Amino acid sequence: MNVVLMLFIVTGLAGVLFWGMFSLSSLIEKKSRASLTGMLFLIVFSIAWFGGLITFHPNDYILAGAIILIAVPALLFFLPVGKSKAMKITAITEKVDERDTMFAREEYQTGTEKYNAYYTMRPGNKQIDDKIRSLPELLAPGGRYYDPLRSGYIASMFKFEERHTTHVDGPVNSVRQNVDPAEMSRILKKSALHLGADEAGIARLNPYYVYSHVGRGPETWGTEIRNTHPYVIAFTVEMDYTRVGKAPGIGISEETALQYLNAQKISITLAQYIRDLGYSARAHVSGSNYQIMLPPVAYDAGLGELGRLGYLISPRFGARIRLGAVTTDIPLVPGKPIEFGVQDFCEKCKKCAVNCPSGAIPSGGKTMVRGVEKWQLNIEKCFPYWRIIGTDCGLCMKVCPFSHPDIFIHNVLRAGIKRSSFARSVSVYGDELFYGEKAKFPEFLE
Ligand code: SF4
Ligand code: SF4
Repeated sequence: MNVVLMLFIVTGLAGVLFWGMFSLSSLIEKKSRASLTGMLFLIVFSIAWFGGLITFHPNDYILAGAIILIAVPALLFFLPVGKSKAMKITAITEKVDERDTMFAREEYQTGTEKYNAYYTMRPGNKQIDDKIRSLPELLAPGGRYYDPLRSGYIASMFKFEERHTTHVDGPVNSVRQNVDPAEMSRILKKSALHLGADEAGIARLNPYYVYSHVGRGPETWGTEIRNTHPYVIAFTVEMDYTRVGKAPGIGISEETALQYLNAQKISITLAQYIRDLGYSARAHVSGSNYQIMLPPVAYDAGLGELGRLGYLISPRFGARIRLGAVTTDIPLVPGKPIEFGVQDFCEKCKKCAVNCPSGAIPSGGKTMVRGVEKWQLNIEKCFPYWRIIGTDCGLCMKVCPFSHPDIFIHNVLRAGIKRSSFARSVSVYGDELFYGEKAKFPEFLE
């Protein structure tokens, strides 16, 4: 057998293997359209490649031409083609007030002292917030997906979290251990993973990512937040692919509550451990006791990039994550932000914007928001939709091509997307072809 023929057969077998694995993985993921389309590609490719060889006995020049036809796009897919785009962050000079976040604003009950104080300070937010307050509450009767049994189960997880929000801080051991920053960083990241985190990183805490004033939780509303910790340990917890795939609905809310619970356990335990070593540490937990904005600190810690949908996108799980963090003064070695093609991919892909039922995700370009150039999610459009359906929505998280499972076949494609602009363009079209552009769900806003 000559070399060209051997290469032709090897190339053909690689193609069969790829499409076979893609189709099988999609079947396991219960993505019938992707599985069937993958199977079709497998059949057409096999017939064209090996059927052509057996039927026409092409000469070496034709075989070499066919190999080049496959090899060139494959190389373009995996080699560093085109420029990767980094997130642009200029000098940040302004803090966010936690009282202005949507989850704080929805809690201001009409006629209360907090309500009067807030809308005297921010009269422009009153009209939209009153409208949101007139909608059913999350997990309460009236929401389209309200389920008397399962909604109560989710609410019980949130109640548990709220009961533990006071455990975020505590006394620091007066005997301080000497620690090596590099070793301590390794130990803390490893401990976070051991406790159940899926990815962990460390960053220098940018003081502008600390909220200016308390807006929720057990601490006094409106108090100035004074967190001067120099470091933050940030981590992700993966949300289950199948449950996210059921968005919007009660299933994704169950998963959100569960992963918040996990993140709370991890961060409170890590903070306790650091305080026992003789250093100050504070956990930042769901159930409304954050002092910092988690997406930008997670970005600084190298856990992902901000995508068009407004959340952090992790290289392994895409948008299917919840975040947690501990701030501390224990000496650590900070990591660096990472780039894996998200900015360029999101410029080409608008799947989250196309699928967002409330029109909260911009389909155009980025805007400069407090020194960060990003796609700005309109939370005043997103959150009312949550109140209408009575649960998390999560459609953007579900349809995002980065959210596919963390398995070999998707990781092969992610490797290309990270390096090559050609791979990013092909993958945007590929995702639409194999998974469809629009997710199926009842569009209640209509
Ligand atoms: S959660 Fe739903 S409503 Fe909100 S931005 Fe995502 S898709 Fe839109
Ligand atoms: S759906 Fe597309 S545009 Fe939206 S965040 Fe994901 S990759 Fe970016």
